Amino acid sequence: MVVENNISTEICKKCADCCKNYPLVELSKNEINSLELLTRLHFDTFINSKGKADEGYFLQFKENGYCFFLNENNGSYSCSIYEARPEICKNYPSNPKQQEVCNSNR
Ligand code: SF4
Repeated sequence: MVVENNISTEICKKCADCCKNYPLVELSKNEINSLELLTRLHFDTFINSKGKADEGYFLQFKENGYCFFLNENNGSYSCSIYEARPEICKNYPSNPKQQEVCNSNR
């Protein structure tokens, strides 16, 4: 199996730490457009209020800190926008610290 993103493997579906605890997921304008098309939601719905135009835009998080688009079903997690997920998600883990988090959950 080709691992594109942690959430795509069986282990990652049980973990999803990256989608629960990621501090800020930055979005490009193109990514925002893609998400609006896919979800039919206005970007105000899924943009973090911390995101300001001059600082970039960031994904909204739920009250528990999980990503707005993270679904949970009986302990199994999935990304509801997987095909249009941001680059930062596609590239996770992208540094040794992130890889360490992944390794500790295997
Ligand atoms: S957009 Fe998807 S892959 Fe990215 S943090 Fe949210 S749930 Fe995870």
